[in-house]
Amino acid sequence: MGIRTVEEYKESLRDGRNVYILGEKVEDVTKHRILGVAVETVAQGYALTAHEDPEIRNLFTAPHPETGEPINRFFITPRNSNDLAYRTKMIQRSIELTGGLPFGKDIGTDCLNAVVAVAKQMGKQEYQENARNYFEYIRKHDLALCGAITDVKGDRSKSPSKQKHPDYYLHVVDKNKDGIIVKGAKIHITSAPVANEIIVVPTRQMREDEADYAVSFAVPANTKGITFIARPSRGSWTDYEFHPERPYRGLTEAMIVFDNVFIPWERVFLCGEWQYSMLLTYTFATYHRFTAISYKVPSVETLAGTAFLMVEVNGLEKVEHIRNKLARITAYVETLRALTNAAINDLVMYDDVAVPNPLITNMAKLHFASNYHEIIKMVQDISGGIIATVPTKKDWDNPEIHDYLEYYLGGSEKYTTEERLRAVYLAIREACSHESAMHEVTTVHAEGSQAAQTRMILHEAPVKKYKQMAMRAAGIKK
Ligand SMILES: Cc1cc2nc3c(=O)[nH]c(=O)nc-3n(C[C@H](O)[C@H](O)[C@H](O)COP(=O)(O)OP(=O)(O)OC[C@H]3O[C@@H](n4cnc5c(N)ncnc54)[C@H](O)[C@@H]3O)c2cc1C
Repeated sequence: MGIRTVEEYKESLRDGRNVYILGEKVEDVTKHRILGVAVETVAQGYALTAHEDPEIRNLFTAPHPETGEPINRFFITPRNSNDLAYRTKMIQRSIELTGGLPFGKDIGTDCLNAVVAVAKQMGKQEYQENARNYFEYIRKHDLALCGAITDVKGDRSKSPSKQKHPDYYLHVVDKNKDGIIVKGAKIHITSAPVANEIIVVPTRQMREDEADYAVSFAVPANTKGITFIARPSRGSWTDYEFHPERPYRGLTEAMIVFDNVFIPWERVFLCGEWQYSMLLTYTFATYHRFTAISYKVPSVETLAGTAFLMVEVNGLEKVEHIRNKLARITAYVETLRALTNAAINDLVMYDDVAVPNPLITNMAKLHFASNYHEIIKMVQDISGGIIATVPTKKDWDNPEIHDYLEYYLGGSEKYTTEERLRAVYLAIREACSHESAMHEVTTVHAEGSQAAQTRMILHEAPVKKYKQMAMRAAGIKK
């Protein structure tokens, strides 16, 4: 098969999966008011691989490394900076072309690329074969994936084996000659209810007495014992806002319950090798934060564009403190872009697998996350109180009051009143809405909290060199 169509992807989701949202069981995710939006968003990834423009098609597809058959380019294991650059370009172009992030392959392949790199480091033949065969399977069937790493975790001060019950972290409860049985729950998993396959990776380092928690595998979404409990996202544009013509795009996250789920051995990538859980989690985190910084660039470009637009529609171009804020916003975006490019160019090799530079990747993610709220504050400041109080599109459409709005809500003469209101509604979505609050939390937590990034930065930092420089400067000879 190699490359699936949008329709084939949608049809594959009618597979008896066990999905709940808003307290109700969903028979067909493709037809659900909220989950259907996530389906359409992920489906855009399939629309891109079948795009009529060959330049776009050739960006999102690539020849299979052995057979030359066309496959989705996300399924190419990165071997050099060019392959990593392609991942960034695909992520950024897909947002530009579709208006959303078709997150159907990115996180899953972040997991699988880490699995491949770590299986090689472990030198364990069967995991290397499992990873290779599984890659062939997803290439052939062009599957949509999600990555399930974060466990529910219970009491954060306690390690997995010291919790009130043993299932706060996903673990192996039984094994037989055919496979393993796992129990636990993963949470916040992006696109999970609309993916074909779940790729599981441990969320943290495991100790010797936690070997059952050191487990990684792939499992189809409709496997017996798996239940998805999805969060409600916005679902669509509303008729009270000024919104663009294109359809609303958005994803959803879900908690995934694994209630004694059987996994055949050929789909297992780690089982009990606790010494490698850290390396797997760490390598996944590097790939995943690289995915994150890649998609954050267009997201903060839009945020910066919103600031520049609001300055213009309000006629603030010449105000000194506003210009200072625009310069800081620009530096924020361009630093992120520069670090993303540096992570590609300064990659590290794990055997023959290319990994984005871990130090730079974590610095970029930390830069993005630790300054985001400050940038939002600037956009709120520039935009004015109107982003909290503006009348709605329904008022605009009411002929009894339309002319008052048209007359009094104008700004700079360069823009019509309607254009100003469109800019205001964009600023609302970016900086004064349920969505923007969700983005702020996503910024802090998704792809790991800031503490996780600082830990990795210190782990990767060239501290020895720093100290040598200081000792020389201080005249200390050791
Ligand atoms: C929108 C969104 C999408 C996501 N998508 C995915 C996904 O697709 N797949 C996936 O696997 N995960 C996903 N995540 C999960 C994300 O990686 C986690 O939210 C993140 O790792 C933080 O974990 P937590 O939410 O359990 O927070 P908590 O662990 O509750 O952390 C809260 C705070 O406590 C600190 N803390 C917690 N434990 C300790 C400790 N033992 N010692 C010191 N400090 C501690 C943390 O650093 C943080 O500051 C997503 C999250 C969001 C918000």
